Amino acid sequence: MEERTHKPHVLIVPYPAQGHINPMLQFAKRLLPKGIKATLATTVSTFKSMHINPTTSVAIETISDGFDEGGYSESKSAEVYVESLKRVGSETLSKLIKRLGENGQPVTAVVYDGFMPWALDIAKEFGLLGMVFFTQSCAVNNIYYHVYKGLLSLPLSETSVSIPGLPVLQASETPSFIHDFGSYPGFYHMVVNQFSNIDQADWVLFNTFYKLEETVVDWLVNQWKLGTIGPTLPSFYLDKGLEDDKDYEITLFKPKTEACMSWLNDKPKNSVVYVSFGSMAEAQEEQVEELAWGLKSSNCFFLWVVRETEETKLPKDFKEEASENGLVVSWCPQLEVLTHESIGCFVTHCGLNSVLEALSLGIPMVAMPQWSDQTTNAKFVTDVWKTGIRAWSDEKGIVRREVVEMCVKEVIEGEKGKEIKENAKIWEGLAREAVGEGGSSDKAIDEFVNNVLLR
Ligand code: UDP
Repeated sequence: MEERTHKPHVLIVPYPAQGHINPMLQFAKRLLPKGIKATLATTVSTFKSMHINPTTSVAIETISDGFDEGGYSESKSAEVYVESLKRVGSETLSKLIKRLGENGQPVTAVVYDGFMPWALDIAKEFGLLGMVFFTQSCAVNNIYYHVYKGLLSLPLSETSVSIPGLPVLQASETPSFIHDFGSYPGFYHMVVNQFSNIDQADWVLFNTFYKLEETVVDWLVNQWKLGTIGPTLPSFYLDKGLEDDKDYEITLFKPKTEACMSWLNDKPKNSVVYVSFGSMAEAQEEQVEELAWGLKSSNCFFLWVVRETEETKLPKDFKEEASENGLVVSWCPQLEVLTHESIGCFVTHCGLNSVLEALSLGIPMVAMPQWSDQTTNAKFVTDVWKTGIRAWSDEKGIVRREVVEMCVKEVIEGEKGKEIKENAKIWEGLAREAVGEGGSSDKAIDEFVNNVLLR
């Protein structure tokens, strides 16, 4: 065998959004102590808004999506964005791989986001290993895979859907791009076409863990060479095996850390409702209003993340009126918040990272899915993992204030709350076991590393 003159080098290419960068960067951090160099490639516009922890050990490089100023928000639509990301992204990823090679850092493997299958074509042009990383659950991807294969026809003609490895789902429990067929066609094509070249991928990675999605993983391993490597929370929150791995290291929004933590510090144990809809969801104004008054009338303490671009949807003077019980911030250090002993409940949009974080930290949830995969994640939270209750919307799709109030009270002080807290603790243990030494995710990471080292 030819002697290696460089460390094996993995290039990580996430879709440019917080919920994709976090898990893929964390995966990269797990590779470093195993003798692998890792570089994360993100788009120019995302790079410009990144707040990067100066001690981060993963190198960062840029590619382009064709919108170097504003990224997705500069594009006219999801269709335009996804097409441009593919076209300009392919060209600039090729140039990056070439440049890294010329600079003495040749790339061994490309780990690319499932949303960007074109990255696999580029990896193969250079004769590199290509591994796909899915930041959405196995269940959600199995639904999209069935659509891709023509095994599930759209628009849905039945009120329920049966897919191998999954519980029977009501149509509304499938991802929004499926049950609300025709909404966001650009994103619909992107999620369904994730599988266009998957048979050429050397490995298929999922940010989940075996016991969490056992039945669907057992079905999918018959399709692909699959590894479950999650949950990808920083090691400090799980196995504590990696020194100094305490946060996600890259944030696209500036967290109000001091304001949040000092506010939480004098609140009683398990008394605070933490509310966040993640980095992308855009709730209707009426929904924000109902949520606001529901939180206020619950009389619970609440810490609510309302991104700057969403703030105009808050009722006038709400922040001041509710200030006795509540704090509204534009972004927070979510992991630090969730592990604060004052937190009693998480009202979440059910983005997969938020769900995995709550599960791994034993926090009960109130599920308020907004779009995309969140509706399916909410189904699993409430009916499969049983670590949360669903805040149901009315016929207009709005969760009313009375429902918000009832749900948070039920979780903080009700009987159902006790039961789901117990389940949450069980999942916390199972998540730690998966990433701990010899656990299913730890083993899958080792297997991945061995494949790269053998190259
Ligand atoms: N997050 C955070 N601070 C906030 C809100 C969210 O750090 O105020 C993090 C959260 O911990 C998670 C990510 O942002 O890791 C959001 O990902 P998720 O999949 O939950 O939702 P998305 O933003 O993709 O809809």
